[in-house]
Amino acid sequence: MEIKISTVPTERMKTKPLDESDLGFGKKFTDHMFIMKYKSATGWHDPSIVPYGPFSLDPATMCLHYGQEIFEGMKAYLGKDGSIYLFRPRENIRRMNASAERLCMPLLDPDFFMLTLHTLINLEKDWIPRGSGTSLYIRPTMIATEVALGVHPADSYLFFIILCPVGAYYPEGFNPTKIYVSDTYVRACPGGVGDCKAAGNYAASLYASREASEKGYTQVLWLDALTRRHPAEVGTSNIFFLFGDSLITPPLSGSILPGITRDSIITLARSWNIKVEERQVSMDELIEALSRGLLKEVFASGTAAVVSPVGLICYKNQEYSINGGNVGPLTRKLYDEILALQYGESDDPFGWRVRIGP
Ligand SMILES: *Cc1c(COP(=O)(O)O)cnc(C)c1O
Repeated sequence: MEIKISTVPTERMKTKPLDESDLGFGKKFTDHMFIMKYKSATGWHDPSIVPYGPFSLDPATMCLHYGQEIFEGMKAYLGKDGSIYLFRPRENIRRMNASAERLCMPLLDPDFFMLTLHTLINLEKDWIPRGSGTSLYIRPTMIATEVALGVHPADSYLFFIILCPVGAYYPEGFNPTKIYVSDTYVRACPGGVGDCKAAGNYAASLYASREASEKGYTQVLWLDALTRRHPAEVGTSNIFFLFGDSLITPPLSGSILPGITRDSIITLARSWNIKVEERQVSMDELIEALSRGLLKEVFASGTAAVVSPVGLICYKNQEYSINGGNVGPLTRKLYDEILALQYGESDDPFGWRVRIGP
């Protein structure tokens, strides 16, 4: 398949943000987007890059009613030498296809997906911000477009990719967050779709997030649905605990999103001879460890923030401070090392970096 490209005339292109300090996250979008359609009779067809703009959807379009919609989140980074890099993009493609399979949606050809990223990002390369910690966020999305009511897998889909320049996640420095343990609401349960980037998961998380925010906390620490005793994830990130000398993260039980940052942290930490355990840990165990000074660091991981230190946990109306509310040395080291890998500033022993331009 060939990608048809229709570009925006230069005089109608948007002005690129000059002040990278107020880019924020997910508010400004580039001039072009990629779109491709699917029909069950013919498969994927008409891949094209077109001017960024709204879709026109029939009110009975199935994704609007039954939430058959999945997405991914990744970034393009501009290195000091002007190279454009992606970080483990094949993992995002693999995960998008895993989400598609679970939601009865059509799979994408991984090589064609890579070609699409390559073509779109090189066309929009002047949109990649240059400042330290900034990047171009990439949002591939698939929606069910059959026009019908009635719950069944749709017979037609739209896949699109939009791009937005994003600012540094920590413009004022690395600030530990305050998190609230929800023992009332859960994000995902065994047998559900918690391990997919399915749109409905995020709608389902809003109520508890709002409650946490009203109480003055940054994020929700989700517990496992069955026992409500074991941390699962924090907000839309994976969670890590430095417990004595070992780094512990909940196992991929099927209701946890298999984060690519999570996997990178596990691999890096093991390469530094840190013991990493993928196991369940209970809130009781954590609180006991805190009282004995064994719980040294807690942090969240994900593409947006890379690593996000946790300074305080509220559980059953009781607040517990972690590492005196300060960023721990391992949290900082992981953050620095992953950024250096992403921006092409360090060796890449695991072959994670993919140069796609110029
Ligand atoms: C995207 C996401 C993560 C982090 O995944 P990364 O691949 O590291 O960005 C973790 N948890 C949830 C619920 C997510 O949606």
